[in-house]
Amino acid sequence: MSIDLAKMPKLGFGLMRLPSIEEEVDIEQVNRMVDAYLEKGFNYFDTAYVYGGGKSECSVKEALVKRHPRESFMVATKLPAWELKTEADVERIFNTQLERTGAGYFDFYLLHSIEEGNIGRYDEFNCWQWAMKKKEEGLIKHFGFSFHDSPELLDKVLTEHPEVEFVQLQINYADWTNKIVQSGKNYEVARKHNVPIIVMEPVKGGMLAAFQPELESMLKNLRPDSSIASWALRFVASQEGIMTILSGMSSMEQMEDNLKTMSEFEPLSKEESDCLEVVTEKLLSAPTIQCTACRYCVDGCPQGIKIPDIFRAFNTIKTYGEDMRPHFFYGGLTSDGHTASTCIQCGQCESVCPQHLEIINYLSEASEVFDKR
Ligand code: SF4
Ligand code: SF4
Repeated sequence: MSIDLAKMPKLGFGLMRLPSIEEEVDIEQVNRMVDAYLEKGFNYFDTAYVYGGGKSECSVKEALVKRHPRESFMVATKLPAWELKTEADVERIFNTQLERTGAGYFDFYLLHSIEEGNIGRYDEFNCWQWAMKKKEEGLIKHFGFSFHDSPELLDKVLTEHPEVEFVQLQINYADWTNKIVQSGKNYEVARKHNVPIIVMEPVKGGMLAAFQPELESMLKNLRPDSSIASWALRFVASQEGIMTILSGMSSMEQMEDNLKTMSEFEPLSKEESDCLEVVTEKLLSAPTIQCTACRYCVDGCPQGIKIPDIFRAFNTIKTYGEDMRPHFFYGGLTSDGHTASTCIQCGQCESVCPQHLEIINYLSEASEVFDKR
């Protein structure tokens, strides 16, 4: 059965950055967010085996499966290449996902974060053929992959795998011409193959939700009542061929703002597009670290360094100049002793970073600013 595009909601609820209280998912708040989202007629939930070390998939069971009829929502989850050591791990992880979520089947199933460095593992363990078997068994309804590499590789994978029904790409206005992420070029490749696109990181992990006052006022002048983040969603939703836009929401406030933007969606006007282009140019001239806070690098760090949080503090200084607040934030963050300077340069983090960031170098720069005061 092919994907019924007319039934796909434009806004998807990304369960990657759920609200938490003392390291545990704040399930009461998640329940309220889920209910508000469903009430507005949206029903696509995106999780992954690795999100929150499994807590995200478990929250699907708590907030959705136990509280809403199964046919009233769709669940997407993903198989991580970097957790596969043998072919048997594929089945083991899938069964764990069924168990954690209690979903019975997955509406959408993805090979997670395909890139040059891990696609060999999906090939070696026959994940493509395995997924087709799961489709026949009715345990997967639709099969695709998320992607973090070049347009050339995307073209090759989509050519070799016509069984792929959709692709999940990182698209946002700041990455449209970014030479590493290549949002715009990857978008064109997916369009050429006529494959529906699910968008991830439309707000770039929150980086497009707040700017320095000069840039914010340029957007506010045109739309005083719209949030800065709403521009990011509207940019993506204004492109052709977009099936669903995932937003990783962490609070009721973000949920309400996104629901407002997407339930009363208005494409960008010419004047707004032009303004966004100028804002983007100015934004990219500030040399910030392009970390999307996906946290893939965190669990495997032998030094327990909170890499994305340190980068957030460092970016605040890069954007706004020296200020005491990022230093206080950093102090609290590293009160357990896991400072940027404790990095032993093992490279684990860089091997899993979908943004291909030079994490070791950035940590060294951050340690100059924060640890040597
Ligand atoms: S290189 Fe540094 S930050 Fe990265 S995983 Fe190793 S110790 Fe952690
Ligand atoms: S450094 Fe890379 S892997 Fe780590 S949180 Fe940022 S984008 Fe994700």
